[in-house]
Order: sequence, then structure tokens, then C-alpha cells
Amino acid sequence: MNLHGKTALVTGSTSGIGLGLADSLAAAGAQLILNGFGDVDRALAQIAQRGKAPGYHDADLSDPAQIEAMMAYAGRRFGGVDILVNNAGIQHVAPLEDFPVAQWNAIIAVNLSAVYHTSRLALPGMRTRGWGRIINVASVHGLAASKEKSAYVAAKHGVVGLTKTIALETARTAITCNAICPGWVLTPLVQRQIDLRVAAGESPQQARDALLAEKQPSQEFVTPQQLGELALFLCGDAAAQVRGAAWNMDGGWLAQ
Ligand code: NAD
Repeated sequence: MNLHGKTALVTGSTSGIGLGLADSLAAAGAQLILNGFGDVDRALAQIAQRGKAPGYHDADLSDPAQIEAMMAYAGRRFGGVDILVNNAGIQHVAPLEDFPVAQWNAIIAVNLSAVYHTSRLALPGMRTRGWGRIINVASVHGLAASKEKSAYVAAKHGVVGLTKTIALETARTAITCNAICPGWVLTPLVQRQIDLRVAAGESPQQARDALLAEKQPSQEFVTPQQLGELALFLCGDAAAQVRGAAWNMDGGWLAQ
């Protein structure tokens, strides 16, 4: 895979899956733009090792004005975004009746509305340049539900639907839009759910095993590197007619 000459923006790429996807795209030669919070310097240093110093924007994706600033930065500094990976996501676990309104609004904003904003702002440049890839990191929770994850499941189902609509609206172009639907990947987002079980009395090993046993028949985590390979495939010519797919990589989760 040769992505030299392409600029890739990966939202939420300072950690977990986003950092893994950014690393795979950078290894294939893409110019990266990172986004997200936390240990930004570590993420920038990791991606720079692939040969090109990445750009970075600190947009909080719950705020459309900050998303507009990030996309303007991408245009000004790198001439636009050829590969848009909508990855940033947050989670909150609680029964519906107890689900905090603020958490509901934040999850819908970051996990769903941000995908609309980045896509609407990236598409005109992709159309002008005649090529583009939009890869939305949804989840198995874009295709099936779990209890106590109402906002996350609603947002991820929304991302899968939005992916299909964008795929239809770009179907006669060399721009494709697809979703990736991972099962459990051991990232800080999932570690927090393991920590909740440990706080409730399970050992770390029990918590990890129980989390996998409930949903993921392989009993193994999906890795960011495996998801990176799928993203690279979706960027390639072989995937030119993969449009509107919601591609699960989930250790058998959805086969049940
Ligand atoms: P993570 O917590 O490791 O990383 C999330 C990233 O998003 C971080 O870089 C964080 O700084 C960034 N972020 C959070 N809120 C933001 C905001 N308001 N503005 C900008 N950036 C923000 O999580 P992860 O597990 O790597 O998850 C990445 C994506 O993969 C999410 O969309 C998540 O829903 C999805 N996903 C994760 C799993 C899993 O098992 N880990 C499974 C399926 C789908």
C-alpha cells in the first residue's frame, strides 16, 4: 500500500485504536494529522518515527466550531484531507433511567455529530481532487446492542446509517465511505470497563476474562494493528467498490 501524497486526518488519535490506525497509515506513507487529548507528545513522536512530522489539532469534537477550525487548519497547512478517519469516541455505562443527560449529549456529539461535521467539511475538497476515503470507526454496537450503553449504541447505529448515506451520495465518484465495527479492543476505553468490574470485586484477570466471555467467542482482543490493516485495505484500489459497508472485526461477536 502506497499512501505517499495523501493526507490522513484521524480523530481521537492520541490513544488506542486511533493511534494504531494513524500508525498504519503513516507506515504506508501518508501525511498524518492527529487530534485528541492526553499524551499528545508521545503520539506525535510515535508517528514522526514513520518519517513525516504529523500535524496536530486540539479540537474538542463536541464543539462544531472547533471542528471547523480543525478542518480549516488541515486545508491551510496540508491542502485538505484525502483520508478521513472518524475514530474519536467516548463511552458511559448506566441503565437508561439513570443515564445522565450530559453524558447522553456528549456521546451523541462526539461519537455521531462530529462524523457529520468532519465529513461535510472534508467532502468538497475530496470531490475537487477526485479521490477520497472516509472510514468511520463505529463498533459492533453499531450493529447490535448491549444493555446500559444506550447513548453509545444509538450513536454507533447512527454512524452506520450515516456511512451508508455518504456512500450513496458519493457512489459515482472515487470517494468511498465505510465503517469498521470492532469488537473488544484493549484500549483505555475498555480498560475503564474492566476497572469497573475490579472495583465491584473481581480480580483483573477475572474481569478481563468475563468481559471477553460475555461477548467475544475468540476470547481474544482485536488489536489496533489488525484494524489498521483493514483500514489500509479500505484505502486501496481493491476496495474501490466497497461502499457503505459496516465491516465487523470482532472475534465472532456478531456471529452468535
Ligand atoms: P480511547 O479512549 O483509547 O481513545 C479515544 C480517543 O478519542 C483519544 O485520543 C481521546 O483523546 C479522543 N477523544 C475523546 N473525546 C474527544 C473529544 N471530545 N474531542 C477530540 N478527541 C476526543 O478509545 P478507543 O477504544 O481507542 O476508541 C476509539 C474508537 O473506537 C471509539 O470511537 C470507540 O467507540 C471505538 N471502539 C472501541 C472499541 C474498543 O473495544 N476499544 C470497540 C469498538 C469500537
